[in-house]
Amino acid sequence: MDKKYGVYICTGCGIGEALDVDGLSAIAQENGMTAKTHEAFCGEAGRQMIKDDMANEGVNVPVICACSPRVWKEEFNFGPESITVRANLREGVVWSAEKPSDDRSQEVVDEFTNELAQDYVRIACAQAMKIDLPVPYKQETTNRRILVMGGGIAGLTAAREAAKAGHEVLLVEKTDKLGGKALGWRKQLPTKAPWNALEESSIQELVSAVQTDSRITVKTSTEVARIAGAPGAFQITFKEAGTRSEWDAPSRVTVDMQDKIDKGEMEDPNAGYKKYTEANPAAEIVGAVVLATGWVPADVSEFEHLGHGKLKNVVTNAEFEELAKEGKVPANVAFIQSPGGEEHDKDFPYANSVTSMVALKQASYVREDNPDGKAYVLYQHMRTPGNMELFYKGAQNNDGIFLTKATVTGVEESGSGLVVKTKDTLLQEDLNLEVDMVVLGAGMKPTTALAPTVNLSYRQGPAFLDLELFDGYADSNFICFPYETRRTGVYACGGVRKATDMVETIDDACGAALKAIQCIESADHGVSVHPRSGDGSYPEFYFQRCTQCKRCTEECPFGALDDDAKGTPLPNPTRCRRCGTCMGACPERIIGFKNYSIDMIGSMVKAVEVPDDDEDKLRIVAFVCENDAYPALDMAAMRRISLNNLVRVIPVRCLGSVNMVWIKDALSSGMDGALLLGCKFGDDYQCHFVKGSEIADKRMANIGETLGSLGLEPERCGVRQVAITDYDTVSEVINEFIEEIKELGPNPFKGF
Ligand code: SF4
Ligand code: SF4
Repeated sequence: MDKKYGVYICTGCGIGEALDVDGLSAIAQENGMTAKTHEAFCGEAGRQMIKDDMANEGVNVPVICACSPRVWKEEFNFGPESITVRANLREGVVWSAEKPSDDRSQEVVDEFTNELAQDYVRIACAQAMKIDLPVPYKQETTNRRILVMGGGIAGLTAAREAAKAGHEVLLVEKTDKLGGKALGWRKQLPTKAPWNALEESSIQELVSAVQTDSRITVKTSTEVARIAGAPGAFQITFKEAGTRSEWDAPSRVTVDMQDKIDKGEMEDPNAGYKKYTEANPAAEIVGAVVLATGWVPADVSEFEHLGHGKLKNVVTNAEFEELAKEGKVPANVAFIQSPGGEEHDKDFPYANSVTSMVALKQASYVREDNPDGKAYVLYQHMRTPGNMELFYKGAQNNDGIFLTKATVTGVEESGSGLVVKTKDTLLQEDLNLEVDMVVLGAGMKPTTALAPTVNLSYRQGPAFLDLELFDGYADSNFICFPYETRRTGVYACGGVRKATDMVETIDDACGAALKAIQCIESADHGVSVHPRSGDGSYPEFYFQRCTQCKRCTEECPFGALDDDAKGTPLPNPTRCRRCGTCMGACPERIIGFKNYSIDMIGSMVKAVEVPDDDEDKLRIVAFVCENDAYPALDMAAMRRISLNNLVRVIPVRCLGSVNMVWIKDALSSGMDGALLLGCKFGDDYQCHFVKGSEIADKRMANIGETLGSLGLEPERCGVRQVAITDYDTVSEVINEFIEEIKELGPNPFKGF
């Protein structure tokens, strides 16, 4: 693209009063660009000035020095043939300016504030010169069909909703019929007002709607053997349910088992692989996948004092539902919701509000079938969110249902019945309850916790990564991006995502179906899905210099990069979420995007003017995550919280994209420190790209060692975790880091 620049310095929102605008225009001129001013570039007249320059003078890279790049995005989008660059003078300088203090007069503060603004104009000019127009990656054809895995409520709903939106759907169910667990329900929880009565199961209606929908093809007794490819072009190989394919991980065979296999006393679990590639060469192709394979009851036999598996008539809630459907509900039943014992406050594994509500439903069965029946619900936490509070109230008002907080210490046989021993009840006394049956509130364990349900043919393995972080749930960022897994184009709903009741499952399925459709459309347009929705850039590799070190393929959080036998990356752009982690990882610096590259950010760093003769004017570069930390800074500025004016902020897509060469660039150009502000990591991570901030933290530890060997203190580089809600503390976080740098003194290489 032949670029023509125009710099537009806004004087509105307090910028004109606080800054030397002529000085800023001069900086633009030093960079060979003409600057114009207006009192409100966001307004109609201001934008028209820019449009006129584009039409009359051929400007195609407007550099708007005004408010934060997070606001007025659409207003400052001048079409696909232009690139808008922003300098944040409003939130980043004027609204967050330091206030005069005993140490600094107004005059000195003004000087520092203007230097900050000048650097932001320099940085924006450098960015404008290096940025390029992305050309979206377009695959030859995009398949619009959606594969739905699982024929329960979630899968059936997702299939129906996708079909209603005009998509062909391939629905795969491993059992021989559709309906899932709901087929075994005697009744279902309330789904509508007045929210206090059980309802007849509606599953058959849903099954019929799917079976009669001409857009939906159903395959029962079938499982997915393998998923290869990428959004818009996944190749799906199926297998007969219950059989093994060559892609399944071998079952573990213990010494005892091998002995039995050798003696012919048991079958080899790894025998009988089917070569599906040969037997079924015609794989189906689909554009996106909805994962709705549901849950299984979590194991409760580990709680020995409760007797499951040992005492007759101690059953799980799932087993009780079957008995209830057959009309075999005894008159006196205890529903135990927490294991009690030593860790008495704990719930059963994978239990949540659904387990509570199922206990109330099943307690109602006891009363329906036995006029004098009694149901005892013993819990530590009773959760009935939203409208289900009314259902809970109904159970409370039922004379035969007793609800109490209680620690269960044991279940024992007593004659033909059972005794449940409890303490710490709401009645302030220990209770021994004589009952006919005990029902344990087993939680809902996602099928993804059992085996690699999706069986992906990806370099990083067949399953979603890091499942242990979520107890096996398939979500990639539960807070910000529901339904999204760590594999682009595969969307989770229902029990694989969280323990859901029927109403939530239906909501979930609609969400996942929409996400699948959005993904197909994005793949077709060559743009990214969430969180950088619509981004037409993608990582490009200068393979001639690739050393096949595999860092990019290993660190990509979304498995977007496969590799060949030698270790050269094989990019799959439609799987890519444009986080830049691969760019940050590459030691050869050969990965870059048209609009986000090593050279571009490096030039922005080098554009900062570093005074080499003034100890008061330390310079610190801060690479700031655009998802959480940068908005936190903007919000701090909106509250007029002062931000330290020694820091030069450069927004990055993710801390994972920060290549250590930028830190070296900063320190070798005389800057005194480099700070990375990004999302929290660890078990409660908030990183939009899963591990970017954690990866950056490790890289910074390594570069610290390198700096040490060069005679620079490793403490000059730091990573700090900032959540989007930390706007009231982010300023202190920065100040503390600067105090540490002040202790170290100026960069000894300043001026060299
Ligand atoms: S690391 Fe990020 S930008 Fe690079 S290929 Fe993977 S998803 Fe795409
Ligand atoms: S990180 Fe860079 S050098 Fe290493 S394999 Fe990837 S592209 Fe090649």
